[in-house]
Formats: sequence, structure tokens, C-alpha cells
Amino acid sequence: MACQVASLSNKLPKEFIAYIFYPALSHKTKAFKFAAICLLSLFILGCIQTSPHCLSPPKPTGLINAKQLFKDLQTLAHPDMQGRKTNTLGSQKAQQFIQQKFEQIGLQALQNNFRQPFYFGKNNEKGVNLFGKLAGRHKTKKNHLIVISAHYDHLGQQGTKIYHGSDDNASGVAALLTIAQFFKTYSTDYSLIFLATDAEEAGLYGAQAFLNASPIKPKQILFNINLDMISRGGRKNRLYVAGTRFKPVLKSITMLAAQPTQLCLKPGHQGRQFSRNSLTAPINWDEASDHYIFNKHGIDYLYFGVDLHPDYHQSSDTPEKTNLAFYTATVETIISTIQRLDKLVLGFNQKD
Ligand SMILES: [Zn+2]
Repeated sequence: MACQVASLSNKLPKEFIAYIFYPALSHKTKAFKFAAICLLSLFILGCIQTSPHCLSPPKPTGLINAKQLFKDLQTLAHPDMQGRKTNTLGSQKAQQFIQQKFEQIGLQALQNNFRQPFYFGKNNEKGVNLFGKLAGRHKTKKNHLIVISAHYDHLGQQGTKIYHGSDDNASGVAALLTIAQFFKTYSTDYSLIFLATDAEEAGLYGAQAFLNASPIKPKQILFNINLDMISRGGRKNRLYVAGTRFKPVLKSITMLAAQPTQLCLKPGHQGRQFSRNSLTAPINWDEASDHYIFNKHGIDYLYFGVDLHPDYHQSSDTPEKTNLAFYTATVETIISTIQRLDKLVLGFNQKD
């Protein structure tokens, strides 16, 4: 999005520039001129770096049922689910909940049911992905898929300490369910797959199993939307979107999608970067979640997520930390992004 000088200059009268900067710049004292140039540079820099939407909290428009969204998040992050560690009783409870929701929404199973069991790692541990489909309505586009993914596993329990994983990633899965519910009513041209992956925390194994061994072939998939940690944007209410680098069309549709809610959406989280809350080592955001596996198969992606926060991978990542206005606006923005993507001819990277 272009720098909104216009909106800022409404608040900062033109007289401000005329009366402060012009006389200062034409002042004879060098130090005075230098100070004026510094002030002007800071003003321009501030304008470039501050999206207008980052100046105020987001305002959901009522597109989705926010109460249900939060209720599903609470269910997934409840102590009953014991932190949803792969191959545990808590994980099985989470699977049952997600399956029931898929059935209620009316997703179509691609085999007998929504489950894709798989084995991973040195100890041949068992994981289970869950996915269902909403068929598209366009006569040719419906043969191609957009996969919306969110991992449902988390870190489980250590002694009596439960790692609830509310933001990471009950938030992504509850959003996945709300988005599925929305598109059950407002169908798309492309077909949509809703994928809840397992064993992401252990090393993105669920996404690997989905692309290597599910009934869906990678070449059927034109796009991945990955949701991982989307329910709290910190003091600045900021959500990041990755995958727009070198793809201006993706950048513009996401920015347009954020406008109705005035969500502070920033292109970023690409490559190695230091997180504001983890200054010890840079994070390779390209490989930080399931979108990495899709990208390895040549599939374009958008990854929505917030920055690391002090509750990241702590037992304190609990539902009451949710910023519901931010979370709801985020889900609305993702829905609008999918609607805009649906109107494009996707498969930028695919050769056949
Ligand atoms: Zn995690």
C-alpha cells in the first residue's frame, strides 16, 4: 500500500510544513538547517513505515460469528485437550472435535473419512492429519485446489504443566473451521481443502505426509494459505503476511482485503529475521511452519501469523490472552483474501 501522506497531512496541516520546515531550511545557521533536515527525514520515514491501519485498533465488520470462533479456540486450548501433543489422548480428543465440526459444516471426505494417519521420525511415531473439501462451482477451476492449512498439534504436558497452545495454534484451527463454515454458504470457483495438520511442532511432518501420501497430488494444488498464531497482535495489533515477496498481485490483494477491518497487516516474515521478542537468534520464517513444505513442492503460499510473543511455547499461552477484535478482523481479512485469490488465474509457478 502506498504511503498515506494524504491521510496524515489531513491531521498535520500543510501550514505545519510551510511554517516550520521552509523557514528552517532557509535559515542561515548550519546547525538549524541540519536539525530541520533530520526532522523532515523522520517525518518521511515515519510515514513510509506506518500503514494508516496501524494507527487504530481493527474493527471487525460482522462477517463471521466471532463468538463461535472464540468458543472453538477455547475448546481446543482447554485443559481437557492436554496440549494436543501428537499421539496422545489429548490429540485424539482434538481430532474428534475437529472431525465433528467438519461433519457439522458439511465438508466432503476424500476417502472414507477425514483422517489421514501417517508415521514419522526415527521412532515411527503415529500422527493423524484431518482434511475435508468444499467443491468449487466453476466448470474448470473446480478441478484445482486451494489448501487452507493450520496445525492442531502442540507441545502437550510436562508433569502437571499443560502447554495449552491457544495462539499456537488453536487460533489457526478455530479460524480454519470458521472459514470453512463461511465458504459452505458462499462457495468459491476453485475447490477448497481444509487441512488440520499434525506433528508440525515435531518438524512439519503432517504437511509432508499430506503432500507425499494423501489422495491429493501436489500438482492439483494451486495455492496454500497457512494459518499459524493469529489471535493476538501485541501492542501494535500487527499481523504479518508472508509469501508476497516478488508477487505484487498478492501484496495488493492482501492489503485490499485488510481495508474493511482496518487491520494492521504487514508484508514480512520472510527469510531470516530477528523477532522483536527473540533477539538471541534469527528465525527463518520461510521454514517456520507448514507453508515451507508447500513451497518446496513449488506451490505458492500466503502465511498469516503474528510475531513471537512472551507466551510463545509457554504454558501461559492461554485463551484469555486473545485479542478478539484483532483475531476476528484477521479471520475476516483471510476470508476476503481467499475471495480475491479465487478470482485470479492461480498457479504462477506451475509449468503444466
Ligand atoms: Zn509452535
